[in-house]
Amino acid sequence: MKRISSYILFLFVFLSSCFNIFTDEGMYPLSEIYKLDLKSKGFQINAKELYNPDGISLVDGIINLSGCTALFVSSDGLILTNYHCAFRAIQGVTTKERDYMHSGFLAKNRSEELQAKGYTLRIIESYKDVSREVLSAVRRKMSFVEQTKAIEKKIKKIVVRTEKKHPGKRAEVAEMFKGKTYVLFIYTYIKDVRLVYSPPRSIGEFGGEIDNWMWPRHTGDFSFMRAYVSPYGKSADYSLENVPFHPKKYIKIAPQGVNKGDFVFMLGYPGRTYRHSTSYFFSFEENVRMPYVVELYKKMISIMEKMSKKGRSIAIKLAPRIRGLSNAEKNYRGKLKGMKRLNLVKKRREEEKMLQNFINADKRHKHRYGHILNKICDIYIEKRIYAEYDQVMKYLLRNSNLLNLAFKVYKSSIERKKPDTERDSVYMERNFSRTKEFMLLSLKNFHEQTDKIIFKEMLLRAFNLRGNKRIPAVDEIVRNVEPEKAINAYIENSYKLTKIKNRNFLIGLFGKSKEQLDKMGDTFIVLAKNLYPAYKKLKKREKRYKGALDNLLAKLIDVKKQFLGGDFIPDANSTLRLTYGRIKGYSPSDAVYFSPFTTLKGIFEKNTGEIPFSVPQKVLDLYYEKDFGCFKHKDLNDVPVAMLYDMDTTGGNSGSPVFNSKGELVGLNFDRVFEATINDYAWNESYSRSIGVDIRFILWFTQKFGGADYILKEMDIKNI
Ligand code: ASP
Repeated sequence: MKRISSYILFLFVFLSSCFNIFTDEGMYPLSEIYKLDLKSKGFQINAKELYNPDGISLVDGIINLSGCTALFVSSDGLILTNYHCAFRAIQGVTTKERDYMHSGFLAKNRSEELQAKGYTLRIIESYKDVSREVLSAVRRKMSFVEQTKAIEKKIKKIVVRTEKKHPGKRAEVAEMFKGKTYVLFIYTYIKDVRLVYSPPRSIGEFGGEIDNWMWPRHTGDFSFMRAYVSPYGKSADYSLENVPFHPKKYIKIAPQGVNKGDFVFMLGYPGRTYRHSTSYFFSFEENVRMPYVVELYKKMISIMEKMSKKGRSIAIKLAPRIRGLSNAEKNYRGKLKGMKRLNLVKKRREEEKMLQNFINADKRHKHRYGHILNKICDIYIEKRIYAEYDQVMKYLLRNSNLLNLAFKVYKSSIERKKPDTERDSVYMERNFSRTKEFMLLSLKNFHEQTDKIIFKEMLLRAFNLRGNKRIPAVDEIVRNVEPEKAINAYIENSYKLTKIKNRNFLIGLFGKSKEQLDKMGDTFIVLAKNLYPAYKKLKKREKRYKGALDNLLAKLIDVKKQFLGGDFIPDANSTLRLTYGRIKGYSPSDAVYFSPFTTLKGIFEKNTGEIPFSVPQKVLDLYYEKDFGCFKHKDLNDVPVAMLYDMDTTGGNSGSPVFNSKGELVGLNFDRVFEATINDYAWNESYSRSIGVDIRFILWFTQKFGGADYILKEMDIKNI
């Protein structure tokens, strides 16, 4: 009796953690929206108003902005997103003389709006399940590497075919369940995006890395941009001829905001979650991959921060990278802490034991699924053996700006010779011009002294790999000389002789064949060529892992469904999702409770006059004068700055609109609390809180500090 009741209790806990029936966990894909009982959840709009494939709905106003989320807030293509999502655009137009990072940016009229180089946006048009077609590429006797390649090729074919049929549109096939379900999305695609307004960095990143992933929070993480198309309404590259895009739908603002306990929902593009993953994956992340990345990123950040102190121009160049690495490093630290706190590996292992018992109890199940978990375990054993080597190879090719560029040039000479759908995606016809654009943007941020130090760090790591995991191209550099000396001499020589840091030279390399590149003998291209065989081997191994894991995970999902007696939602994969919840505080630790709103008072309290806690005097003056305009929260008697809610979000949800129950905009999502960094592996109502900037702050700041009344008018904000 006791055994049965503990079994039931365990099953209850297991079900509630894996299957969102007891909590509001859930990033619902479009296909699920019509299955939800929206009214009972708190929505005051119906499914058709959310998503309507045959008409106009909120989804038509939601944007995927280069990996972030954003939304249209006017009929003239005005876009609202996070400051940190627009940061590369702001940095891209910043110089020592015109320091928009420091002062903020305001285009007083349309002609002053500045090109956001490298930015594109997508708006969903339709979606369709293409699992059958994708999986039809797999033949019985294929090796895992062949399987992975066949699926990749099929997906590329579907994409190319679709884009041919719909000129100017963008097609993407998303893997919903690994090795199992694939969905084709067609998007409106816009390539001319411009910067309209951004607050100073001291507001857009108030609190910096100290406050990042934290609550209480006082960051004004918002910016305005605008979408442009050709005079004929077609997607077009940046041109002065272009005109503002008129979206099918723009989002209505609710300047009165929301209150504690109110229902809210969100539409956005969450990047990746891993909630259906195995204990082997979790353990690999916890013990192998993330600790390595944290240690490496810390080192790189400290190198770049030191360099940034040498001058404003250097600081401007290095800012996006420092920001990106610091953000990831702290996120990983949060995850590592959360994994320990929740005992995630152990818990998942117990769940897997239950699942294995279920499988073993039935002969047919045992035959079909009995081996799955052991096989997955074997793959992770092999991955661990290669882990350090793989990380070193990956970051060696990525971390030095010049080597990264040289490697891409060299690789493109090989890839571009293959048929289009057999190339690595970034070298395909549909992507190559953007790949080149990104390479030139990355060269713009090149700083030689920093690059040398980072490159040396990576070469030493590569040389110091243990056992038989050698990289011949690196051994070749060191030969029999003392390693550090040899590497120093090699670096000095390479940077002196290479021409790849010259923009025009780099542009000239794009169309060159392998043979032509060989003949030029540029130092970095020579190294890229020497590293290529090791890279190829690594890629092949990765494709084998993917092929094997896809097979196993597809079956695992099948049997898990049978075990749980129902369906569940696919992990986030950068496709549009709906999530909902309430404005709610939380308790991060014993005797501590955090309420869900912060206000201007908090900015005033935190302000030390030193970055990252230093706001412009004008903000303080407005606060002293209690000049809150019509954006005051009645009970708080102040302007709310940020808010907390229990919606289910992850990276990529940055810039997602927070809606009230009627589908009006009340905030803009930008972060999570430290405890919720673990969301990607396990969501829980008690600690999973995300953070948004309150619409009242956005409007107040844009009007009172930015003096950009025209933006408020354009958004139909009355009585200001
Ligand atoms: N600020 C976050 C990011 O870096 C958003 C999140 O992950 O919740 O993407």
